[in-house]
Amino acid sequence: MKAEIIAVGTELLLGQIVNTNAQYLSQELAAIGIDVYFQTVVGDNMDRLQEAVRLAQKRADIILFSGGLGPTQDDLTKDAIAAVLGRKLHIDRLAMDKLEQFFRNRGVVMTENNRRQALSIEGATPLENETGLAIGDAIAQDGKFYVVLPGPPKELKPMFENQAKPWLLQQALSGKEMPIYSKMLKFAGIGESALETRLLDLIQSQTDPTIAPYAKEGEVTIRISTKAASESEALIKLTATEAEIQQRLSEHMYASEDVTLEKVIVDLMSKRGLTVSAAESCTGGMLMEHITAVPGSSVMFQGGIVCYSNEMKMKLLNVPYDYLEGDHAPGAVSKEVALVLAEQARIVMDSDFGLSVTGVAGPGFSERKPVGLVYIGIAERDKETEVYELNLSGNREAIRLRSVKAILYRLWRRLMENEKLSS
Ligand code: ATP
Repeated sequence: MKAEIIAVGTELLLGQIVNTNAQYLSQELAAIGIDVYFQTVVGDNMDRLQEAVRLAQKRADIILFSGGLGPTQDDLTKDAIAAVLGRKLHIDRLAMDKLEQFFRNRGVVMTENNRRQALSIEGATPLENETGLAIGDAIAQDGKFYVVLPGPPKELKPMFENQAKPWLLQQALSGKEMPIYSKMLKFAGIGESALETRLLDLIQSQTDPTIAPYAKEGEVTIRISTKAASESEALIKLTATEAEIQQRLSEHMYASEDVTLEKVIVDLMSKRGLTVSAAESCTGGMLMEHITAVPGSSVMFQGGIVCYSNEMKMKLLNVPYDYLEGDHAPGAVSKEVALVLAEQARIVMDSDFGLSVTGVAGPGFSERKPVGLVYIGIAERDKETEVYELNLSGNREAIRLRSVKAILYRLWRRLMENEKLSS
């Protein structure tokens, strides 16, 4: 079964609102095994709306509409569908009673145009609006299925979940389609294109399960999906694909569920009774914010120092003056300073690990060093401190975020190596 979503509203075309209804409906349909081939957006215009309905009829079996059910003259969705299907509109008695009750309770006279919200397409199954006034409709005609939903997400979601979805499952699917099962794999320390390149043959050759990478906020996610008759059958297929990906990208794959890298680190360190502290310059506390956003981080996070100025680097973290000032000093953004910051953060706060970040987040140069040059350090009790040089691209926010992700990635790698050594 192929589906198309038609979101109605000039506001969408003007970019005044984001089409989150289409995203929600696509996800929901995928979960019940319905493939969405097209998402259309059309304004509040009768001719173009009818044109969109006719086009969708040619390429989809199920057409879902969002928006345009309100009381005003530009709410035309049902009028347009009724016209294309050659049906009339009529007032749904139950919806009308609810409308009248609503206005009576408020002591307000209902204007005539409000009656439009109780309109239903002749022969349709009315879909009650649990959180609003305009009713929806579900219609089957000539082997096609039409579902009409209101625009406000707080009305659309319960109507879809409680009424439209069961209707679709019973009317349109009736056991014919297998549901889609999917799994998220999470990666760090690798960009989307590099990851795709390493999996290209798999991505191109595999149709079941399908492999779809996408990048978000400095991390890459892969969704592997399969259609199967049961969860256990799906699991067998998904696990095999996951194992293949894991084998190729073991140094980057940190989870096989939708969790953040910091959550994985917090859990791992808490389990092992390990602690960490941080010294941050260019990230100004962003690293600590990431760690402490994870519930339970108090067990493993000792504390941190935002040492933005050279003075604070010297005063609070014992960075030697010679490292920071003078013609031959390596400067605040340097391997040497990152090393001292990581070691001192660990010593001052008496933890197992010390992390440091110092760099040029931009937009301007600093110490005549280029924007995006960042040093990150990891100190560990009784081990040699490691410092990594990063050359990051992007604006200030992107550089700061990528620095945080990079240090978290290096910490995770170190923890995994330690795990391997101890096993
Ligand atoms: P109403 O009775 O509120 O007029 P409606 O069914 O006529 O509802 P619209 O008038 O098209 O819906 O949109 C009402 C509001 O719903 C919009 O202002 C917007 O906030 C939200 N909305 C509409 N369409 C979408 C969409 N596709 N994605 C997310 N939000 C939407």
